[in-house]
Amino acid sequence: MKVTKSDITISAVAPKQYPSEGLPEIALAGRSNVGKSSFINKLINRKALARTSSKPGKTQTLNFYIINEAFHFVDVPGYGYAKVSKTEREAWGRMLETYFTQRENLKAAVLLVDLRHQPTADDIRMYEFLKHHNIPVIVVATKLDKLKKAQVAKNVKLVKQTLNLDPNDQLIPFSAETAQGKEEAWRVLESYL
Ligand code: GDP
Repeated sequence: MKVTKSDITISAVAPKQYPSEGLPEIALAGRSNVGKSSFINKLINRKALARTSSKPGKTQTLNFYIINEAFHFVDVPGYGYAKVSKTEREAWGRMLETYFTQRENLKAAVLLVDLRHQPTADDIRMYEFLKHHNIPVIVVATKLDKLKKAQVAKNVKLVKQTLNLDPNDQLIPFSAETAQGKEEAWRVLESYL
C-alpha cells in the first residue's frame, strides 16, 4: 500500500470517543518496547506519528490513526511493564475487553512479539484472548535485523510453538531498521481491509 496521508484521529478511553465514520480498523498490540510504534511509523512512512517508547504512567489510551482516509490503525497501549499498578492494569484490561469484544469496525489484530526471545506469558495470553474472540491475528515478529541469518528460522519456530500458533495465522518477521517484512505486512493487512 502506498500511504499518502496519515494523522491521529483521537486518543480514546471509552467507546463514545471512538471514531464514528464506520471505517475499518486494524488493532496493534504487544508488550511495551516490542517495537509497535516503530512498526506503525515504518508502515506509514512517518518518523514519529506513533510515539516511540511512550512512557508508562501516562494515560493509557487507544490511539486511532487514520490512513489514506480509508481505515484506522488502532494503537493499543503496551502490556508487560512491571511498574504499572494493579489498578492501572485492571483499567487497561477493561478498556481492551470493551474494544475487542464490542467493536464492529475491527477487521484484524496485529500481535507484535520480539523475534529475539521466546514469547512471554503476556504474549500468550494476548494471542489466546484474540483467538477466543474470533479476531483474525497476524503475528509480526520484530527486530529481525538483530538476529543472525542462521538464527531466524529457529526463532520463528520457537515463537510459533510457544504461542501455539494456529497454522492458518500468519507470522511475518519484520525489521523497522531495514524495512524487511514491510511489503508482506501490507499485503496481509490489505487482505483484511
Ligand atoms: P513500543 O514501545 O512497542 O512502541 O516500541 P518502540 O517502537 O518505541 O521501540 C522500542 C525500541 O526498540 C526503540 O529503541 C526502537 O528504536 C527499537 N526498535 C524497534 N523496532 C526495531 C527493529 O526492528 N530493529 C531494531 N534494531 N530496533 C528496533
